[in-house]
Amino acid sequence: MKNIEDTDKQLQLCLLYTPRNLTHGPLKKEVDQMAFVITSPCIEEKAGDCVEVCPVDCIEEGEDQFYIDPDVCIDCGACIVVCPVEAIVEDTELTPETEPFLEKAKEFYGTS
Ligand code: SF4
Ligand code: SF4
Repeated sequence: MKNIEDTDKQLQLCLLYTPRNLTHGPLKKEVDQMAFVITSPCIEEKAGDCVEVCPVDCIEEGEDQFYIDPDVCIDCGACIVVCPVEAIVEDTELTPETEPFLEKAKEFYGTS
């Protein structure tokens, strides 16, 4: 029989590997919301490391940068970790400088 410490450890691991959307994502995600937004550093770098790791293949190449499809993204955060120029930010961390990239992404997906 498992003791309480084992169960606690399993719960911690479970939470660690639970996609962000199950803890604070899609249940409050509205149609035109985007959990993650790709911002200006991508325009210079644009090598696509994020595309390689995305488990649901929802990062698309645009004319001058990549975009994340909010309808398909499962908010796992894997792309953030591999981006060499820290271009991917959470929508809650947008600043006046990065806010336009949310609008740009909405335009790309026709949701603005
Ligand atoms: S890894 Fe970062 S810089 Fe490279 S394509 Fe993706 S978002 Fe753009
Ligand atoms: S958060 Fe995960 S699912 Fe969403 S774009 Fe990044 S790698 Fe893909």
